[in-house]
Amino acid sequence: MKNKPDSLFFNRQFCAEAQNGWDRSGLSVERFGMEVEMNTKSDQLYERACKRMPGGVNSPVRSFRSVGKTPFFVDKAAGAFLIDVDHNRYLDYVCSWGPGILGHAHPAIIEAVRRACEKGLTFGAPTEKEVELAELVNECVPSMEMMRLVSSGTEACMSAIRAARGFTGRDKIIKFEGCYHGHSDGLLVKAGSGLMTEAIPDSAGVPAGYAENTLLAGYNDPDSVSRLFDAYRDQIACVIVEPVAANMGVVPPAEGFLPFLREITEKNGALLIFDEVITGFRLSPGGAQEYYGVRPDLSTFGKIIGGGMPLAAYGGRKDVMSRIAPLGPVYQAGTLSGNPVAVTAGLETLRQLIAHPEIYEEIDRRAGKLEEAFRETGFTVNRVGSLLSCFFTKEPVTDYRSALRSDTKAFAAYFAAMLERGIYVAPSQFEALFVSAAHTDEMIERTCRAIREAV
Ligand SMILES: *Cc1c(COP(=O)(O)O)cnc(C)c1O
Repeated sequence: MKNKPDSLFFNRQFCAEAQNGWDRSGLSVERFGMEVEMNTKSDQLYERACKRMPGGVNSPVRSFRSVGKTPFFVDKAAGAFLIDVDHNRYLDYVCSWGPGILGHAHPAIIEAVRRACEKGLTFGAPTEKEVELAELVNECVPSMEMMRLVSSGTEACMSAIRAARGFTGRDKIIKFEGCYHGHSDGLLVKAGSGLMTEAIPDSAGVPAGYAENTLLAGYNDPDSVSRLFDAYRDQIACVIVEPVAANMGVVPPAEGFLPFLREITEKNGALLIFDEVITGFRLSPGGAQEYYGVRPDLSTFGKIIGGGMPLAAYGGRKDVMSRIAPLGPVYQAGTLSGNPVAVTAGLETLRQLIAHPEIYEEIDRRAGKLEEAFRETGFTVNRVGSLLSCFFTKEPVTDYRSALRSDTKAFAAYFAAMLERGIYVAPSQFEALFVSAAHTDEMIERTCRAIREAV
């Protein structure tokens, strides 16, 4: 494929470098896509991996089980492309499940990380960059008055809920069917993402007692929330929500849904938590809360905030965050929290996004083209900014139940057809497709053609 990147300046330079790198590595530009080859290196690795890791992977959706395939093993990535251990090249719309908004191996980030590594990998003591990152996050997201850096989105959500419970002195929480907030015990109830396709309705190993304080409401269903507040008056610590649901496929909030949540929580002395692990720094520098103009009490961030390294954050109102140890009685800690290398990757990523605000328009416009291509096929497509999902149903998808109406067999066939064309989308109906700044118009065009053929 001839790359004629037509995106932003830094991106143009970046893609040219990536292209050079591939040429040097001897990868034929014609070998775009999956080779039909028996016993590839990926197959051999998969066989070995399965002996030592459940399903051969370290996170279930990576196994490709739900689409009836075996995974490819990645050797390296640059810009919009992944290259596997058999030298196949894939145009990547998974973007590591969200962090890769600038594309892979962005030179500025790699360089910053390299410099940080030379200074030492972890100190377990505060650093200047943590302060800079916390200040920058607060500038982008004003509701983040105080925050804690942690190492994963799971940890951020778990800790934010503990903070809400500690602050309100209440135990119950409301979450929505199909929203995913990481794999901590109390949150694995109708949790979307891998749990939808992996046929794990609720995880085994979670004692009933852990989940009994988790109340379930319907996404985009205000009445279901009102009913819970009526039934459990003065017992609800918080409502946690993905402001744009992106773990049952992308499902935008209906008009008025987020303002409704703001109002009902405030009226009942409960906190509103936006899980912006996916939407943060993706829909806008201020995340979904800026995009929709609704200010939550607490928020969680992950994925983009770490720039490809294990980093996440939770925070919000100063009075709530002042209850966290050592200021208050809510305990939360982490040996690698605020790790200097991860903080460097995150800080540099946010700085790139702030220096190139045009990225947001570009990825929005390009995702719009993919949306059109899907729409022409007659299936339902949901999009918010650079996040989108095509559902294999003709009915609108507005919540968990309607998402489940998708034909996952048709999705599996579509996934395989895209992969054959060298295009890697998430191997599950219930994940988002991510557009990054490294996807050029030409790549998008090519993808639109592939969509028309594959669907
Ligand atoms: C990915 C995700 C999480 C969990 O983050 P991890 O870093 O995988 O633990 C939480 N909430 C949302 C909305 C996510 O998409």
